Amino acid sequence: MNVIDLRSDTVTKPTASMRAAIAACEVGDDVIDVDPTCDRLERRTAELLGKEAAIFMPSGTMTNQVAVRIHCKPGDEFICEAGCHIYNYEQGAFAQLSGVVARTVEGPAGVLSASQLKGLIRPFNDHLVRTKLVCLENTHNRGAGKVQPYDHVEEICTWAHESGLRTHLDGARLFNAVAATGISAEQWSRHFDTVSVCFSKGLGAPVGSALAGPKEMIQEARRHRKLFGGGMRQCGIIAAGALYALEHHRARLVEDHANAQLLAEAIRQTEGISLSPKDVDTNIIIFAVEPALGSSAQFAAELKQQGVLSLPISGTQVRLVTHLDVTEALCRQAAKIIKQVAGELAKGNTSTRELEAAY
Ligand SMILES: *Cc1c(COP(=O)(O)O)cnc(C)c1O
Repeated sequence: MNVIDLRSDTVTKPTASMRAAIAACEVGDDVIDVDPTCDRLERRTAELLGKEAAIFMPSGTMTNQVAVRIHCKPGDEFICEAGCHIYNYEQGAFAQLSGVVARTVEGPAGVLSASQLKGLIRPFNDHLVRTKLVCLENTHNRGAGKVQPYDHVEEICTWAHESGLRTHLDGARLFNAVAATGISAEQWSRHFDTVSVCFSKGLGAPVGSALAGPKEMIQEARRHRKLFGGGMRQCGIIAAGALYALEHHRARLVEDHANAQLLAEAIRQTEGISLSPKDVDTNIIIFAVEPALGSSAQFAAELKQQGVLSLPISGTQVRLVTHLDVTEALCRQAAKIIKQVAGELAKGNTSTRELEAAY
């Protein structure tokens, strides 16, 4: 059976041409001096994001945490959306590694408004932490790939800078936001001091993320990358995959978005499951399973029996992500299977229950 893996856009495998680029790349020791391929990737990333410099790291967790580290000292605080990756999925590394606290604000589908943040900056006072940074996420992972409205980003960052705060963008999927809106990466990024982008998500590289910003901040980031264990020697081997992805896989993200719409439409037409949130802006779909059909884990187990891999992200919600390795035809097939599984679960007539009955 053909497995259709919709768990994440991180599951992509390098294409033959990407592997050829990796095999052919020039390398050097990037800790002693410079790896030429990594250097090219960093320059190209900085250029695309309109920043002076960029630095390559093994993961988006590291780029985000190094960013928090350069913007905040122990006893400082940053403001972020309650469902964001930095707060929820990085083991509270800002607290573990940097002695920094987070102040979370809930936004619908991960979208924050400036009016929610104004007034949150703490006064200077020996009792209080110091508010130093605002972090935004675009697109928003838990918000089902929600694109932050551009005017919100502009207003929040203008307010933050006028108030003496720094700003960081977790742009793990910034290029999805670019593909969805036509607003360039440079234009999104100009509102932020630092921007993190992932090459291993929709762009389809095997490893890596980059942090971009002003030259002095990126020099500082280089020290902290080493401290966090992210100094990499002949990293051109992985940077070549990232560079290939950056040059060849950005334009095609619109295909992932169109495929996500196919899946979203199938879910809208199916009783017992519903999109949550309702909008699908980019390549992530989250749907809720009604209790009558069972838990999200049961729904995912049934999908798996039919060859579709998904990710239960709460007791009732299942996530699907489209990417480079799933074609339109495979997404149509997955959409059909989702409808079938919902129908079978509604009838109480599923293979999992049959298997249980056979014990
Ligand atoms: C995937 C992701 C990251 C980084 O994840 P790593 O697995 O550490 O590379 C950061 N932010 C968001 C929003 C993500 O989806």
